[in-house]
Parts: sequence; structure tokens; C-alpha cells
Amino acid sequence: MITIKSPREIELLRQAGYVVYLTHQYLKPFIKEGITTNELNELAEKFILEHDCTPSFKGCEGFPYTLCISLNDEVVHGFPSERKLQNGDIITLDIGACYKGYHGDSGWTYKVGEISKEKEDLMKWTEESLFIGLEQVKPGNRVGDIGFAIQEYAEKHGLGVVKELCGHGVGTEVHEAPDVPNYGRAGTGPRLKEGMVIAVEPMLTLGSPDIYVDDNDWTIISQDHSPSAHYEHTVAVTKDGYEILTGEWKDGKR
Ligand code: MG
Ligand code: MG
Repeated sequence: MITIKSPREIELLRQAGYVVYLTHQYLKPFIKEGITTNELNELAEKFILEHDCTPSFKGCEGFPYTLCISLNDEVVHGFPSERKLQNGDIITLDIGACYKGYHGDSGWTYKVGEISKEKEDLMKWTEESLFIGLEQVKPGNRVGDIGFAIQEYAEKHGLGVVKELCGHGVGTEVHEAPDVPNYGRAGTGPRLKEGMVIAVEPMLTLGSPDIYVDDNDWTIISQDHSPSAHYEHTVAVTKDGYEILTGEWKDGKR
């Protein structure tokens, strides 16, 4: 069931989203060659708890960590580990925080040191595809309008659209109805209404969109091991558009 959130609920979602945004800002300076992804996970957990929230993903359907940390060819749901970041990596931090029972969810891809031109393009176009998708978020439009816009933009740039994974509603559960695919037909799917809260999250690859699941049963990896990027905001549908609940990122700052 797709729920419409009250202004009071949206305020709680805004608070949760703000802590997710702050956690990204806090972690950014640590994303350097030599740090382990376990260290990033520990820093995030401490930070989220210090801000009166709990990590949304830890324990969610059995996921064992605070952060999903996905490197290079990992699309989503990467496990933190003792692996050290290396110059040329791209790393996606997917962060969820729960405040008084309401969640915020935002993933973002960062570069480590100097990266290849292809990875730069992948990051730029995937981030842009998020905002292209968000332009479709307004009352009266349909969920399919978002996916159509993202797919068209991604494929224009030769990127693969991972279809097995999608955005989702957000509320008292971190994953609620409706599914928000990153592909589809305009004018199809549930109609957007003021008070709905959704996460829009394109996951694009530099190569084939095909994926497989790692032996850990969680981590999704591109079949051809091409790099993947992922940008996600949780947004509320407003009277005439949307409000980003997980921070203003378009220019890299709020
Ligand atoms: Mg999400
Ligand atoms: Mg996420």
C-alpha cells in the first residue's frame, strides 16, 4: 500500500534525512587511499547513534552492517571489510538512518584520488540522471515517468541500467511501496500524490546492465565487472514538485 504522509510525519522524515545528509558530509573527508571500508562503517555507525538515530540497514532483512559500501564493479549492498581504498577506486556509500521510527535513505558515489575519464563520466551522468528523474516528481505524474526519464538519459550516454534493483517508498519502513524502477514507460505506474515519500536511485554501469549476486548472498556485482555508480535521494512529493529530504547536493553542498 502506498501511504500519504502527514506534515508531522514528513517533519520526522526530514530529520532522519538530514542526519543521512550529515553522515555523508562527515564521511567525505575520510574517503582517501589507505582507509578501510570497515573504518568508514564504524565512523558512520558512531555518528548516526550520536545524532539520536539508529542505522536503518543494520538488521534490515538480515543485512549485517550500518553502511552498504560498494566498490567499482559492485553495484549495491557491498559489505564493509578490511580492504583499503586505492587510488582510482570509486566507492558508493549507501546510508540509512532512522529517527523516531522514520527513515532517510541516500546513496552517493565518490572517487578516491585520481580516477579514469570513463569513471568520471559514469559518475557525472549517473548523478545527472538522478536529477533528470527527480524533475518528473510532481503530483499527477506517474512512477513510470521517472524511470522513463532516467533510462532515456542513461542509454543516451551508453550506460547500462540495472533493472533488478529499484527505488522505493520510504516511511516507517526503509523500503515501502511503490517500487520506483529506473526504466519503464512514461504515463504508466502509480500516480504521484502530495505527501508520498520516495527514494529515487539510479544504478548505472559503464558496460552491460547484467548483474550477479556474490557468494555472501548480498552484494550485487556487474556481470562484466564494469564500474557502477549509484546516486539516491529520498524526496517528498509536494504541491507542485518535490522536496529533497536527504540534503541539497546539486552543487555539492546544502
Ligand atoms: Mg534506497
Ligand atoms: Mg539507499
